[in-house]
Amino acid sequence: MEQYTKILEELLDIKDELYLKGLITPFGGNISVRCPDDPSKALVTPGSVYKKNLKPEHFIQLDLQGNILNETKFKPTSETPIHLAILRARPDVNAVIHTHPVHATTLGVSDLDFLPITADAVIIGNLPIVEWTETGSPKSGQIIADAIGEHGNFVLIRNHGLFVCGPSLQFAAGITDMIETVCKELVLCKMMGVHPRVLPKEKIAVIHELMKSHSV
Ligand SMILES: [Zn+2]
Repeated sequence: MEQYTKILEELLDIKDELYLKGLITPFGGNISVRCPDDPSKALVTPGSVYKKNLKPEHFIQLDLQGNILNETKFKPTSETPIHLAILRARPDVNAVIHTHPVHATTLGVSDLDFLPITADAVIIGNLPIVEWTETGSPKSGQIIADAIGEHGNFVLIRNHGLFVCGPSLQFAAGITDMIETVCKELVLCKMMGVHPRVLPKEKIAVIHELMKSHSV
């Protein structure tokens, strides 16, 4: 795994950031990244390892069909079928981040609408939700990959958590943070018993224009 030192360092940095924010929990959440030297292979976090203690030697290398390629005593996360289904379906995706964010999950189980309250919310747009599914099953991989679709980058699984994918680990982590931030603001409004003021249509149009010239 020495050839993957750099990408695993980046992955562990992202994991630390998400862990400190409470988005990845000791036994909840997982990350995969496509191998930089071979797009038909991926590195995934193990199941049952306390996330704070993750080290490069814990990672499992798999082909996109799920065959383990490195010698390891660790098992890939039980949610590996979803990571691999997304990586198979989307050659443009290099990283998949699965988190258990408190506010996004609360929004999903409370049937709160994802509203355009900030520029972040407008950039995210719509937050698709799929119903709870057994995430270890191959079928679950297809359900989540289909929900993300050809051009999407995320989906919330009701009663579970969030999957975000993208061209890089930083992109997927950034989008995860944006979704959770907006959901927190919406949940706080609900807790205060107020209906949030949404951005007016003309200001949303300005943000859409800005998005064309600035990538997120
Ligand atoms: Zn999960």
